[in-house]
Amino acid sequence: MKIQENVPLGPLTTFKIGGSARYFVEVKTQEDVQEAIRWAHKSHVKFMIFSGGSNILVPDAGIDKLVIQIASRRFDFEDNELDASAGCNLMTLIQAASEKSLGGWEKLAGIPGSIGGAVRGNAGAFGSEIKDFITKVKAINLDSGEIRMFSNVECAFEYRNSFFKRQPEWFVTRAWIRLKATDAVKSTQLIEETVAEREKRHLQNVKAAGSFFMNPVAPQHIIEMFEKEKAVKSREGRVPAGWLIEKAGMKGAKVGGAQASMQHPNYIVNASGATSEDVNALAAQIKKAVQEQFGITLEEEAAVL
Ligand SMILES: Cc1cc2nc3c(=O)[nH]c(=O)nc-3n(C[C@H](O)[C@H](O)[C@H](O)COP(=O)(O)OP(=O)(O)OC[C@H]3O[C@@H](n4cnc5c(N)ncnc54)[C@H](O)[C@@H]3O)c2cc1C
Repeated sequence: MKIQENVPLGPLTTFKIGGSARYFVEVKTQEDVQEAIRWAHKSHVKFMIFSGGSNILVPDAGIDKLVIQIASRRFDFEDNELDASAGCNLMTLIQAASEKSLGGWEKLAGIPGSIGGAVRGNAGAFGSEIKDFITKVKAINLDSGEIRMFSNVECAFEYRNSFFKRQPEWFVTRAWIRLKATDAVKSTQLIEETVAEREKRHLQNVKAAGSFFMNPVAPQHIIEMFEKEKAVKSREGRVPAGWLIEKAGMKGAKVGGAQASMQHPNYIVNASGATSEDVNALAAQIKKAVQEQFGITLEEEAAVL
């Protein structure tokens, strides 16, 4: 295990923003994680978990902690079940399953980041969420060292939320995913269509963290306004944050190099050399505008450190 010092984190995130980690280590196994934590305790250094970097805003000043990056990439299939280490890239897993004629979760194709990050945030798209496929999860408590298996129910998944997001001392190390037998050709086609649909809605290789805010639960009159205007049903009493942002006149709004995307205003994009301060200032303006117009408080989906 090699602890590095002053490692720039911006390049490791999809936002491409932020300073350096005071200490940084890549871990591959559960034992590595435990060793890294022992080192942090011994050195009186705080620590944090970092995985695919696709849902994170790193401060300009960097992070005065040990940043533990999950680099485990091991996965196996047993019958219809996939057993994957937390660091595996979600898209890689979806494609690997498809090649084995296993699918059902193709609508999640194109969501960047790791399977561990996807479990923690219950990642989802087009009406599918990772919770629909998880059978169990192994996690380690970073404070006590306890290792525990969680059933799907114990993961307490909700919209973009889970036990692990609410209790960040628990770090997901492995996930088991139940898939369905499928036709490999049809599955590949569905993956390609899903990725193409994502590109149509918003270019996916932008410097951003995906949707910056969660879709909020809205009062009935706002849901009705949304459903009438867009001719689509609201899900779980929520309306898209992007729709509220646009209605509040913040589509395209800029602070420094950060911009609320013209194509999908809930993507805050690092348009040209944005700093974390630019993104936070723009996010604050967006929240204020939506609060003033609709009385709704937007909550960040991205992890703002
Ligand atoms: C272009 C783009 C499009 C996106 N589209 C979608 C979408 O359609 N749907 C969607 O849901 N999300 C989307 N996202 C957001 C992002 O891809 C997901 O949130 C993803 O699951 C984050 O995983 P990650 O490994 O990158 O997490 P990171 O960004 O590395 O970490 C995010 C947070 O999760 C924690 N974390 C990471 N790994 C673990 C673990 N193993 N155990 C416990 N905590 C952990 C970190 O500490 C951090 O707080 C998009 C992002 C981008 C850039």
